[in-house]
Amino acid sequence: MGMYTSTRKKIEGVTSTAAILQGISEEGGLFVPKTIPPIDFKLEELSKLTYKQLAYHIMNLFFSNIHKEDLERCIEKAYDNKFDDSSIAPVRNTGNTYFLELFHGPTLAFKDMALSILPYLMLISKQYENEENDIVILTATSGDTGKAALEGFANVQGTKIIVFFPEDGVSEVQKRQMLTQKGENTFVVGIKGNFDDAQTGVKSILGNAELEAKIQSKGYKFSSANSINIGRLIPQVVYYFCAYGQMLNQNEIEVGEMINVVVPTGNFGNILAAFYAKQMGLPIKKLICASNENKVLFDFFKTGTYDRNRKFHLTASPSMDILVSSNLERLLYHISGEDVDKVTEMMNALKEKGNYQITDKMRENLKDFYGGYADDIETKKVIRSVYEKEGYLMDTHTAVAYAVYEKYHLNQKDDTKTIIVSTASPYKFTHSVMSALDEKYNHMNDFALLHEMEKILEEKMPYGVKDIEKKPICHHKTCEVMEMQKTVLEIL
Ligand SMILES: *Cc1c(COP(=O)(O)O)cnc(C)c1O
Repeated sequence: MGMYTSTRKKIEGVTSTAAILQGISEEGGLFVPKTIPPIDFKLEELSKLTYKQLAYHIMNLFFSNIHKEDLERCIEKAYDNKFDDSSIAPVRNTGNTYFLELFHGPTLAFKDMALSILPYLMLISKQYENEENDIVILTATSGDTGKAALEGFANVQGTKIIVFFPEDGVSEVQKRQMLTQKGENTFVVGIKGNFDDAQTGVKSILGNAELEAKIQSKGYKFSSANSINIGRLIPQVVYYFCAYGQMLNQNEIEVGEMINVVVPTGNFGNILAAFYAKQMGLPIKKLICASNENKVLFDFFKTGTYDRNRKFHLTASPSMDILVSSNLERLLYHISGEDVDKVTEMMNALKEKGNYQITDKMRENLKDFYGGYADDIETKKVIRSVYEKEGYLMDTHTAVAYAVYEKYHLNQKDDTKTIIVSTASPYKFTHSVMSALDEKYNHMNDFALLHEMEKILEEKMPYGVKDIEKKPICHHKTCEVMEMQKTVLEIL
């Protein structure tokens, strides 16, 4: 147990630490667990475990070659008081809706859940695998991963981190959070392209043997902090169990009762973690995948065809502005009965012509998923209505999930208790959120609106955005998509 194989090639299996260190498999596939382990505790125990205890139970099953003391130390350091809520991932019950709040970490988005532990896992992996080179973390971001990874890796000895973000594709607050990042080993580069360009660029650098050899001679090794790294994915399985435990504690469900989860989705990492939780034994009925206007996943679930050949939309939920959802490759592996040749064929088709189709048999294995989408108008409408009716202010991504759930509930008449996964604080998207509440905020900028939001919520704004407009900008680099490789070499 705890070994990893590739989505594109049958291999003997590598340890979790090798997979974390390497990021991506040699032939371009993603690492997947050879077996998805069943939980080794009873569901009723969930209500008694703290987040850290639970994190240990889950991660130990997947990272079994990491010694107990080492894994415990990683968890201890990751989930400490940089989270502003002691339960780490609280479930808020508004009386009508359950929100699993994943934004209590330092950068106010759910990426902190995994990126606060990844640097420690990376250092352990480096040690276990006798890797002497410094690790260079290459990261493409649609806005939130970048800051969370920078925050996690800043000043971590033996690492450097380079973040590429779409210059015109992130919110003002997101951008400022990244550009003001301190730390000698941090590098932030704006690219003239969208997230997909950034992600494709990073993947091609990671898969380039010649480049790898070149930087190795300078004492470096590449890895990734994107959710293509299993060190990102596995820590995300934990909070679904944590949510279930809290629902039990709040007497909202009985042990064994099925729940639904609605996940605002971009790269398919978060919802894949929910799928793993379900495979491990968490009673999840439907995995509801919520997209914004870039609804490539909605179409995929509806038709069985994945087609990225379409217009790319910049939306009010920029962290989901993605047309190539990397982690879907892992799902394809599982639903195809681990057919690596089929996955390779589909991924080649995606690369060459931008689309692929799954078989009828694979489609049958998708029945636990439901795809929905909401456009910006619907998203803003629910931000306002939920604020008015439930007194709860959602960010735009969470609102996409909420809007999709409303439609699901109406159409499917499924009254199963449902958790909306709340992926970011509204403070990261002040302009979209505030202007959804009232037109009078339209003309104000994101930074002024931080203060307006603080006023209406009657609570101090989170530390992660406090005084952000006053912090000095530390990063000025920009580049064309074609120059990403060159830029990396200039930095190293
Ligand atoms: C990254 C992100 C998402 C999408 O998550 P995936 O794992 O890429 O599907 C949704 N909401 C927010 C706020 C994000 O930062």
